[in-house]
This record gives sequence, C-alpha cells and structure tokens, in this order.
Amino acid sequence: MRTVRILLTLLVSAFSTLTVQAQSQPANPAAAPFTVPPQMSAAQQENFSPQLLTELEAIKAAALADDYAYRQVAHLTENIGPRPSGSAQAEAAVQYVASELQRLGLEVGLEEVKVPHWVRGVETAELTEYPGQAAGTTQKIVLTALSSSTATPADGIKADVVVVNNFDELKSLGRDKVAGRIVLFNEIFDKQKAAGGMAFVAYGEAVRYRAGGPKAAADLGAMAALVRSVGSADFRLPHTGYSAPAGIPAGAVTAEDADLIAHLAEQGRVRMHLTLTPQKLPDVISHNVIADLKGIENPEQVVVLSGHLDSWDLGTGAIDDAAGVAIAMEAAEILGRLHLRPKRTIRIIAWMDEETGGSGSQTYTKEHSGEFPRHVAAIESDAGAAHPLGFDIRMSNAAADLIRPVLTVLQSFGANAAENRPYPPGADIAAMSESTVPALGIMQDGRTYFHYHHSAADTLDKIVPEELRENAAAMAVMGYALASMKNPLPR
Ligand SMILES: [Zn+2]
Repeated sequence: MRTVRILLTLLVSAFSTLTVQAQSQPANPAAAPFTVPPQMSAAQQENFSPQLLTELEAIKAAALADDYAYRQVAHLTENIGPRPSGSAQAEAAVQYVASELQRLGLEVGLEEVKVPHWVRGVETAELTEYPGQAAGTTQKIVLTALSSSTATPADGIKADVVVVNNFDELKSLGRDKVAGRIVLFNEIFDKQKAAGGMAFVAYGEAVRYRAGGPKAAADLGAMAALVRSVGSADFRLPHTGYSAPAGIPAGAVTAEDADLIAHLAEQGRVRMHLTLTPQKLPDVISHNVIADLKGIENPEQVVVLSGHLDSWDLGTGAIDDAAGVAIAMEAAEILGRLHLRPKRTIRIIAWMDEETGGSGSQTYTKEHSGEFPRHVAAIESDAGAAHPLGFDIRMSNAAADLIRPVLTVLQSFGANAAENRPYPPGADIAAMSESTVPALGIMQDGRTYFHYHHSAADTLDKIVPEELRENAAAMAVMGYALASMKNPLPR
C-alpha cells in the first residue's frame, strides 16, 4: 500500500513538473527536477505565507527530533498505569496532564465530568460438560468481562452454551432455545481486511456483537452473553470493551476459546461454569483537561487538538490512548520551545471517559456548543501510535482543498493522505463534527492496532518512538497551520 502511494506521488510530481515546463520553460526534460512542489492555488497562497510555511517546517523538524511525547506516554502508562473512568489512576492522570500543561504556560482548566465507575472482579470459566470429555476433567476458558457486565453469584452460574454467528441466527433460535442459556456470539474478526489497510472496517463489523450482543441475548431471556474477542491477533488474549447495558453477565472469550466452544457445540451439549464478579460503584466526578494556548489575533477562534486520557484496565492504555494525549501535549511543548504563538487559540483537550460512554465529550458539548461556530477545527488522535499516513477528515471540499499545503509539508514522512469521510473521524469530536466544525483524525497505519486494542498487551513497548514522533509532527504541524493560516477554514 505504501509503495503504491509513493508511486502515485512520484507520478503526480512528474506530471506537475511537465505542466510547469510546458507553460514556462522548454528546457531539457532530462534535467527536470523530480520534486517541483505542487503549485498553490490563489486561496492557498493567500492563507499560507512563506513565513508560515517556514514555521511549519521548523515545527516538523522539532517534532521529528524530540522524545517529549514518548516521555509523556511512559509516565501515563508506567508511572500512573491503567486509567479506567472513575479510577484513582484516571484522576492522577488528570492532575498530571493539567500540571504539565500549566508548566508549559497554557491556561488550564478542569471541566467536571460525571463518569461511571465499574471495577473488574473475578473472571473465570470452564466447560464442565462437552462431547468426548474425559471423566473428572474440565476445560479452561479464557475470558474477560465487558463494560456493562453484571455479576454472577460469587460461586458462578452453570448453564448450557448456545453458539450463534450473527443476530439473525439468534433471532431464529427464539426465546425457547435461548432462555436460561449462555449465548456465545462467534463473529470472526476479518483479519484480511485489517492486513489490507481496512482495520477499522473489520472492527466495525465485529464490534456490533460486543456492543449489542448482550442486550439482544438478554431480550430473549439469556442467563449470560459472551462474544468472541474483537481483535486481529490470536495469542489467547481476551479483548474487553464497551457493551450496552443488558442486565446480565457479559464477557469476551479469546478467539481460540470461541473456536473451541463452537467446535464442541457442533458435536453436542456444552455446559459452562461462568464466574464474573465486576461491581458497578456510584458515579464519580472526574474531569476533561482543557488547556489553551491563546491566539494572539483571534483568541475567540479555537482549534482543538485532542486524545482521550481514560483507558481500559487490562493493559496500561498506551496505544489507546495515552499516545493521542501525549502528541497533543507535544504540540504545545514545541510551540513554546520555538516561541511560536498561533493567531487563533490552540486548545489541548485530554478527554475523560471515551471508553465507557463518552461523558467527557458530552459534557464539553453541553458546556461549549454555543462556541462551536467559532471552533475552527478539531483534531483527535485515537487510532494508535503507528506510522501516520495522513488524516481522516470530515469537512467541505473547499476546506479540504485549502489544507493541501500542510499535507505537502508532511509528505516527507508520508503523512500526506487526506480522506474525506461521511462520518466523524473521532468519537470525542463527533458532536463538533456533526455541528459542521471541520474535523480531522490522524490516520495511523492500523494493521497491528487491533492485535493489542483493549487487551492486556496495550503497553508502552507497542509504541515505536520514531512513529510516535511522526504522529506528534502531524498533530503539531496541522494544528498550528489551522490556527495560523490567514482565514479560518470554511465550513
Ligand atoms: Zn480509544
């Protein structure tokens, strides 16, 4: 995929070279430079002065040579640790990010957010009856609870397992064959899509069962619901995540265990002993961290740079999403170090509670929607920390055309793609996007993201420092450009 893009880029460069020559200089084509920059339109020239383009190059160079973001991810993941909503670690992360951004000279505020507080308990399962069972044995099943899981009794429940591949199969079984049983949704993550660069499409297809499966099973009287883990690598690791409240115990089994159960269920009766003892505690007051680097000409116009601070509890939330918060922080650090002040306000936001309901972004929308007409753009990074290919964008064609000179700056390390999407390119900036604020999500290489996503393996070692620097460069260059180009992006 990368090779194809490079070839295309070369072809485009070659074409513009030829066009330029045809218009102005009938010189020897063999001596033609291969890297004539694409010509800027009048609107692009008006918005991007030579000085601004020089500043963008300086920001890029600083980001590509710096490890500030990596140190932030290390602190958030190793010193603070997992940061599930409502936890002491999530609040410690709020305090840390706020004090760090204050130290960098930003105006920092904490916005109160009421978040759910759910804590994991015991999570074990074994098959107690199945075809071919050796007398006196059981088979261990590896699983983890989902966000809305209720608890079984401390000594668990025992029930027959019924396996379905999709919602239609569940429906056709009907209440008779579902009530009192444990339903397993065995939707298989499409690894070929992920390997082919469509990881988020594969995720979207599979995650429907994690999100809605428990509720669909509960509606037919199921005693508990399990889903096959939504992930692209099989190391017998369960992947947790959000599921809509269903009022029954709900978990994700590993892909290997889903296969095992499905194979045995094809042969006959399968019975499971399942123990999940999570607790839903009272809601907690937590915070979005909101830090402004005030614009010197139009401080009322705001460009949001963001990631989410909360994480799942199984790993330490490195790729999801300490990385996003850290690269947004690095933008502020670099601008301070280079003594660059944007025309408009750059607002760093570390969102709370993206994972278990989005109360952070909901609160921000409630408090700030009156200012959305003056929110010039919003960027979120929440697709990992791997090499950035460019941006998923959602904006008018005129706006998309206007940011091309920024993409040209990012082209030297391949972060120059811009794909206009029909959906918001980030969960926390979705409401802004729906109210026509131009929205951008950094488009990371997603081929390995779902190997680790929401699992115990989402840890610091999964982040390649050089790739994180590229992400920091993409965030800082785009953020400063949007905040400093002559006119705000058109809607
Ligand atoms: Zn995330």
